Amino acid sequence: MDRKNNKTKEEIFMQMKKSIEFFNNIPAKHCPECGDHIIEQAESYLMECDRCLSKRED
Ligand SMILES: [Zn+2]
Repeated sequence: MDRKNNKTKEEIFMQMKKSIEFFNNIPAKHCPECGDHIIEQAESYLMECDRCLSKRED
């Protein structure tokens, strides 16, 4: 009759595992110009990577 308890433990563990996997699998932002990985910053409204942004300023 304590089926619920067993399941709860298992579910908590699975949820933790899933959320860890989720955070590990968050797709990195990529620059649409060169496909470079963009490191998220506070001012991440910018879509391009540093290289392409500095190119743009020419
Ligand atoms: Zn770029």
